[in-house]
Amino acid sequence: MLPLVDQEVPESLETNPFLAMVSRFDHAARLLDLDPDLHAFMRHPSREITVYVPVRMDDGHLKVFVGYRVQHNFARGPAKGGVRYSPAVTLDEVRALAAWMTWKCAVVNIPFGGAKGGIICDPTKMSKLELERLTRRYTAQLFEVIGPEQDVPAPDMNTDEQIMAWMMDTYSMHARHTVTAVVTGKPVGLGGSAGRQGATGRGLLFVAQEACTHLKIPSKGAKVIVQGAGNVGGMSALFMHQSGFRVVGLSDIHLGLYNDRGLDVPVILDYLKENRSLHGFPGVSEVTNEELLELPCDILLPAATENQVTSHNANRIHCSVLCEGANGPTTALADQMLEARGIFVIPDILANAGGVTVSYFEWVQDRMGYFWNERTVNQRLKQIMVNSFQEVLRYAQTHKVEMRTASYMLAIDRVAYDTKVRGIYA
Ligand code: NAD
Repeated sequence: MLPLVDQEVPESLETNPFLAMVSRFDHAARLLDLDPDLHAFMRHPSREITVYVPVRMDDGHLKVFVGYRVQHNFARGPAKGGVRYSPAVTLDEVRALAAWMTWKCAVVNIPFGGAKGGIICDPTKMSKLELERLTRRYTAQLFEVIGPEQDVPAPDMNTDEQIMAWMMDTYSMHARHTVTAVVTGKPVGLGGSAGRQGATGRGLLFVAQEACTHLKIPSKGAKVIVQGAGNVGGMSALFMHQSGFRVVGLSDIHLGLYNDRGLDVPVILDYLKENRSLHGFPGVSEVTNEELLELPCDILLPAATENQVTSHNANRIHCSVLCEGANGPTTALADQMLEARGIFVIPDILANAGGVTVSYFEWVQDRMGYFWNERTVNQRLKQIMVNSFQEVLRYAQTHKVEMRTASYMLAIDRVAYDTKVRGIYA
């Protein structure tokens, strides 16, 4: 059995992502009066795989990396979720991220369960060839448990379309035929979908616009601060800038840039691409990541990693809307403090679901062998994100709960219904 936690996570365990997920799950399940058998079943992952991945490094020595794949739930379809390369990967983190994928797919009502993968490694210290060998061997070791009908990986932190292309190729070599639908987030032309790269950022724009309308905040000129300038942070900052929001703050892992009059986001992103750091960008103030989160704005959009808003800084956050681009950026203890201060939270499992939504479109297109243009992809994405936001908002109002609890309740309700109808093979 996995550790049981009370509704309240003690402060010493505040930053354990799995306990953060479980405490929210338990809270929502209690409000739903969830059947105890379903509660026990849905709370646990279906399968956890640890692989030890040998890689021949460029200097000739063999290094063994630790990798994980956690498949949380298959009730509504194949498991779906990214693969993360980072020295900070832990099994508890991958477990939490896998469960969040189950709830995320259910919130936006797409026919997937949840999974996540990770390898403990520092990709900034590895050559491209070493990364390719690591990716191929990890994929080969997971061959029996992934696949279009079983579990479909995608990019996450420090993984990209090149890594997805290597995963797809390795899987296809073992299967003896090309299987494009085994991963999503591939290059367009290799079975990737138009619009996938910007999908999470675009989805964040749509839900931020819906929140502004709901809260009567004029989006034109509304101040936005984005933490993280990778796929999610960079793209959401760009789309929000292009849509009339005023992006006043943006950071990478090292530092943040701030200008109350607004940042020229496209120029900053070009600078980042060229210099691989935001350091030295002219005409703006440099702040730390901690300071950036506490600067006043209308919308704060953390898009880097977990545990950025905690009980230690939640009372110093000055925004009207917290729009979660990253997975798990806010701890459960911080949730309560933000709610008491009236901050409107668009939770990760709703806010950043644009990525998995277009991954679903990619999987559908690969299986049909027929590809849509970017306009169609973006229209269908907008429809799903706006409908999902409105559905969660209605649920929150009906049940008199905040948006995170409403999202969990809606997702758990859907997974529980399908599990009950299928029956638990016990
Ligand atoms: P990425 O690797 O492209 O970018 C991460 C960014 O965060 C980089 O700018 C990096 O410098 C910064 N960063 C990393 N650690 C940091 C730290 N400790 N403090 C401050 N900044 C830090 O990753 P990504 O794909 O943009 O993912 C970011 C987050 O969004 C993750 O939580 C991921 O799980 C989540 N997410 C990603 C997708 C997707 O489609 N890529 C979809 C949904 C959710």
